[in-house]
Amino acid sequence: MTADAAAAIPAVSTNPLFKPGGNLREETVTWVHHWTDRLFSFKTTRDPSFRFINGQFAMIGLLVNDKPLLRAYSMVSANYDENLEFLSIKVPDGPLTSRLQHIKVGERIIVGRKATGTLLQDNLIPGKTLWLLATGTGLAPFMSIIKDPDAYERYERVVLVHGCRDVAELAYGDFITKELPENEFFGDAVKQKLLYYPTVTREAFRNQGRITDLIKNGKLFADLGQPAFDIERDRVMLCGSPAMLADLRAIMDGLGWKEGSTTGAGHYVIEKAFVEQ
Ligand SMILES: Cc1cc2nc3c(=O)[nH]c(=O)nc-3n(C[C@H](O)[C@H](O)[C@H](O)COP(=O)(O)OP(=O)(O)OC[C@H]3O[C@@H](n4cnc5c(N)ncnc54)[C@H](O)[C@@H]3O)c2cc1C
Repeated sequence: MTADAAAAIPAVSTNPLFKPGGNLREETVTWVHHWTDRLFSFKTTRDPSFRFINGQFAMIGLLVNDKPLLRAYSMVSANYDENLEFLSIKVPDGPLTSRLQHIKVGERIIVGRKATGTLLQDNLIPGKTLWLLATGTGLAPFMSIIKDPDAYERYERVVLVHGCRDVAELAYGDFITKELPENEFFGDAVKQKLLYYPTVTREAFRNQGRITDLIKNGKLFADLGQPAFDIERDRVMLCGSPAMLADLRAIMDGLGWKEGSTTGAGHYVIEKAFVEQ
């Protein structure tokens, strides 16, 4: 979009879909970053009345033929951030992301008013170590959780494990290792408590292998200097592909752990990073 075209967008939408008090609103894109040809991030303005708990998702999308085309997206930004931030896949023939991947600064996206989801700290029975296990864009909700000072108050240790195919898909690696520990308010807690374990399956890298295998063969625990899962100490949040979730759920259930939800806290909680069509 040219600067002239951006200037031509009215500050307040006149489309009745976005009327005050309705379920949808429009936000303006303020930043776009392409990690790879399959993955990108973007930030938008945020209506101050849009509230969410770190770890939740909302419906976002675009107007296509004057109708909202919406998909579930987890917030990467923390609930105290001024902007909203999202991490997105690019599905070549995906109804939304074939279009969304071309979004430019100054253009508008739709954001639903309601945030929801199960990856909430309150859905877990108190413990000492919080494990955040993600594959692909499943990292998104955990980005908001590792930016939440409450996570470091509740837990003695927070471990973020991110599995991808290629090193270039390990989004936010620099932010996690360089910027977050320098946060002026809770950087010291990050330095003391956060462990980050990126792992890839299709390239040479310092950590290699699928998260499920690394848990089963004990390498994840050995590499991190942490004891194996213990029902008294460890709590787990899972977000990834349906296959990854099925494998890890089997491990958790095999240990006799209880799944948590908004109706009752448990030892682990699960959210799908996407649904297979
Ligand atoms: C609770 C929840 C939270 C989600 N959060 C995010 C998020 O933060 N970021 C994000 O990019 N997507 C997220 N998704 C997936 C998202 O809702 C859409 O499916 C995605 O944006 C693709 O939309 P589409 O219309 O282009 O294709 P769709 O028709 O929705 O999907 C087509 C196919 O693409 C594949 N696919 C879809 N999404 C992904 C993905 N994220 N990673 C790998 N393969 C995928 C699947 O095989 C799917 O069948 C989430 C889904 C759920 C259920």
